[in-house]
Amino acid sequence: GDAGGRAHFVFVPLMAQGHLIPAVDTALLLATHGAVCTIAGTPATAARVRPTVDSARRSGLQVRLVEFPLDYAAAGMPEGADNADNVPAEHMRSYFGAMARLREPIESYLRARAPFPTCVVSDFCHPWTTVLAANLGVPRLSFFSMCAFCLLCQHNVERFKAFEGIAADDEPVVVPGLEKKVAVTRAQAPGFFRGSAAWEVFADYIERAQAEADGVIMNTFEEMEPEYVAGYAAARKMKVWAIGPVSLYHQQRAATLAARGYATAAIDAGECLRWLDGKEPGSVVYVSFGSIARAGAKQAVELGLGLEASGHPFIWVVRNAHEYDAAARAFLDELEARVAGRGLLVRGWAPQVLILSHAAVGGFVTHCGWNSTLEAVAAGLPVVTWPHFTDQFLNEKMAVEVLGIGVSVGVTEPLMYRAVEKEIVVGRGVVEAAVRSVMGGGEEAEERRRRARALAAKARVAMQKGGSSHGNLLDLVKRFKAV
Ligand code: UDP
Repeated sequence: GDAGGRAHFVFVPLMAQGHLIPAVDTALLLATHGAVCTIAGTPATAARVRPTVDSARRSGLQVRLVEFPLDYAAAGMPEGADNADNVPAEHMRSYFGAMARLREPIESYLRARAPFPTCVVSDFCHPWTTVLAANLGVPRLSFFSMCAFCLLCQHNVERFKAFEGIAADDEPVVVPGLEKKVAVTRAQAPGFFRGSAAWEVFADYIERAQAEADGVIMNTFEEMEPEYVAGYAAARKMKVWAIGPVSLYHQQRAATLAARGYATAAIDAGECLRWLDGKEPGSVVYVSFGSIARAGAKQAVELGLGLEASGHPFIWVVRNAHEYDAAARAFLDELEARVAGRGLLVRGWAPQVLILSHAAVGGFVTHCGWNSTLEAVAAGLPVVTWPHFTDQFLNEKMAVEVLGIGVSVGVTEPLMYRAVEKEIVVGRGVVEAAVRSVMGGGEEAEERRRRARALAAKARVAMQKGGSSHGNLLDLVKRFKAV
């Protein structure tokens, strides 16, 4: 078709599920509003999102996916570290450096094909896209799959030097300049609060992605956190487009919903739905720690025992079961046999949003990755919060203290990437109590559920015609149309 006059967004997502999935959803949303979108990445990026993009193309959206091979070895990367979600923290900086090698091929590709881009929308971890946009002579917007509350906390901690003079990593400090009194330790947000060398690269990139960009796109919605969206925009003097929850793009689209994020889920979507169809409304608890965080073998056994003791039906995503020792693997098999019919174990990738959208699901034990947290909001579900690292502790504060839809398992220290084998951090009794509290009856639980449902209703309205996120998407398409 004729794309003249249309906005053409070039997406450069980061190759990590929690960044990639919402960026692709955003591209698809912009395309439904009339934009042309090009998603540029590595072959590994493309493989993960191709089914979703192909399905969107079949429904007539102008979205294309282009892949550019990358020589990771030449960039000094360890073997197999082709995705940011399997790069060890100490290699993060060189991984991001390697990604910068994509600038030239992406630029030549874009120059050689019509329509010419009108805007670059890139992950906050890609500072080199500022140069890409400048060379093309178009604006760069930074894409954040974070909430405004989190980014404002990060900003205020830096601006007011909140941790200056605080020696201990585990000393809680009240984040300055917020309406809500929220206390965090430096250790709880590696990369968000400076202090941990391996993660400092994130703090640098978060800052640059704001200082060097022409605006930010956030996967959040104004009605959920009006004071923080406005407060953030004012504090950073930044143009903000809140366009979420982007997962709602998939609401009426069974095909993309089942494929979201991965070509090969570890369980058939139909099987999952059939299993859920047999359960009472609101009775099932869904348990997942996202794409990076993982429970060590001992912790997994403890978590399993807690779920069993809770008495509630559950779907438990044990993504890294293959890494466990024989004893833990045997435990999982035995548990599965004991709770047959009541518990479903998924050893790999689960169709999360599809599961969360099912009426049988009544709660979500989450690591508080922002996408998962917002997906819970969009589905109207209360959460049990079990943060591990990066922005997850801040998201926990958001869910528990700001939104009032969560019960914390009480993790106080970061559970670092791949360093969680050794310990049981959360005991089975705590798991059981938190699940019972979120899934059970009683005044408090009811109120939590009411708040979660009310937020979901607002989310839906935000994404519909006349809603705030819908309006912000339209504004992007209008503002960045070709002249
Ligand atoms: N996800 C999924 N299936 C899984 C695990 C994760 O679909 O088995 C999706 C989830 O719906 C979310 C994303 O992957 O959209 C994870 O992002 P999040 O920010 O929650 O956590 P991260 O993986 O970045 O820590």
